[in-house]
Amino acid sequence: MSNEELLFRIGQSTEETEFYTPMPPGYRTGHHKFVVVVGTVMSGLGKGIFSSSLAKLLQDKGLRVAPIKMEGYYNIDSGTLNPYRHGEVFVLDDGMETDMDLGTYERMLDQDLTAANFTTNGQILSSVLKKEREGGYLGRDVQFIPHVTGEVKLRLRELAAKSKADVVFIEVGGTVGDFENQAYLEACRQLAYEEGENCVAFVVLTYVMEPGSLGEQKSKAAQLGIKRLMEAGIMPHIIACRASNPVKEKVREKISMYTNVPMRRVVTMHDVESIYTIPDALRTAGIDREVLTLLNIHDRVDQGKEDQARLKWRQFVDRISKPRKDVTVAVTGKYTALRDAYASIIKASEHCGVQLGANVNFKWIDTTSIDASNVAKRLADCHGIIVPGGFGVRGTEGKIECIRFARENKMPYLGLCLGFQMAVIEFARNVCGIDGANSTEFEKNCPNPVIDILPEQKKIEGLGGNMRLGGKDVEIKPGTLAAKLFDNARTIRLRFRHRYEVDPKYIATLEEHGMIFSGKHPTQPIMQILELPQDVHPYFVGTQAHPELTSRPLRPQPMFLGFCRAAMEFAEGRLRQPQAV
Ligand code: GLN
Repeated sequence: MSNEELLFRIGQSTEETEFYTPMPPGYRTGHHKFVVVVGTVMSGLGKGIFSSSLAKLLQDKGLRVAPIKMEGYYNIDSGTLNPYRHGEVFVLDDGMETDMDLGTYERMLDQDLTAANFTTNGQILSSVLKKEREGGYLGRDVQFIPHVTGEVKLRLRELAAKSKADVVFIEVGGTVGDFENQAYLEACRQLAYEEGENCVAFVVLTYVMEPGSLGEQKSKAAQLGIKRLMEAGIMPHIIACRASNPVKEKVREKISMYTNVPMRRVVTMHDVESIYTIPDALRTAGIDREVLTLLNIHDRVDQGKEDQARLKWRQFVDRISKPRKDVTVAVTGKYTALRDAYASIIKASEHCGVQLGANVNFKWIDTTSIDASNVAKRLADCHGIIVPGGFGVRGTEGKIECIRFARENKMPYLGLCLGFQMAVIEFARNVCGIDGANSTEFEKNCPNPVIDILPEQKKIEGLGGNMRLGGKDVEIKPGTLAAKLFDNARTIRLRFRHRYEVDPKYIATLEEHGMIFSGKHPTQPIMQILELPQDVHPYFVGTQAHPELTSRPLRPQPMFLGFCRAAMEFAEGRLRQPQAV
């Protein structure tokens, strides 16, 4: 970066002025609008779902929207976070490892996001410190205000300019009052001040309690939570009240009265059966129009586009409430106690279920206690099995037993990343007779490392020995099940997050025994999709990728769709007679 560029980026932070308003190239003041979504009372209220539903309403109207999740933690990304604490790591196409909320936005908006849509305090601080080392602050002492907050504002405006957004949706992580999100809130306050009227709308998601012992809704916690926001100099424009039951008018009145927010902008957001009904509920409450008014952008609405989008969504939502056939899918996973760790798998299955008229139920299986003697019993009531991604040796032998069971009993199988690798190991051991076949991740010096780290292959992609991350092209072999699933596309794109892969020196043996590698790296011997021939097994598919990350409500991911269809057929007992592999 040239000095001139640097100075441009950091704005006017000099001895002469207290303002620090770096404007990125391409930023159109007055054109880009912002909706800031914050939470009070407690976290875990579904801020991401709320914010993405609201963003969807504007997107449906033909506006360009760009969400950003601002995390309070000091990690640079979510890559090292334990899914048990934080839910799954959601990988974006550009390789950024993010919070699971980004998945919510991608699904709701049917839009691929990038690293620009995600920031952490860690990223903000490291940018500030880097600029300080580059001499970027013109001799000033570097301070929380204006420099840290300035960096936050820069991020927001950069996203607006880069995405040419009509409206940027800013979701501030955690709740108002957390130490961690002070920089974000203060930056948003400054943003509203700098951008001027009708440019920034503050939306609060709060919680109305209904203690069982009282049997009535209480608004005090909500009032106090919003007060914290007002203490930070931010007046809310819209308040959405999360609650178990519809929020009573009296309670809304109380909240309205204590916060200066008119009643029409205090809405109930009680529990619903399906999150996909939330956009319509918000529209019915008139929140979309309130946002247009607050941001003065009614003239940007494309009515025809909105009518079309609504119709499509309506049809999807209608299918949800129709009666559906039950299928049960076993999911083997280390984090069996926490569903958030597998959020995208659950969502992808749900998308397929809605399309196919199936109600996909999950049976979570801890494989540490599974062996050849009990696997049949444990999987007896299941119609398909998914072995999801994972790291470490725990439970791997049990997973191999499950895969053997699925293969031998023609139970539909979908292996995701680790599940792909485990399927290769199972096949190598039990079909090819390769003794001691394993992954070096689990057994460093195993006699036959069919799965291994092959840095020389990754070097070609410029990744060295690191994790192979993000969207990559996959070349599909014509005439295979994969080709059928992907409508005979020659090249598709999937997202990856792995270190290990199939060692090419075993490929010939695996293929001779019937395994088909139907998806490969376009130029390198990196195996990306495997399957068994259709006359051997109705649906045995694995992928080194994470197809669950790219499934969307109206566009279910093909490998999941094929799997769910096969599981339904398995449930109906319509499968062909078994043949020996
Ligand atoms: N542990 C395996 C690897 O690193 C699989 C990773 C995953 O399932 N995401 O390659």
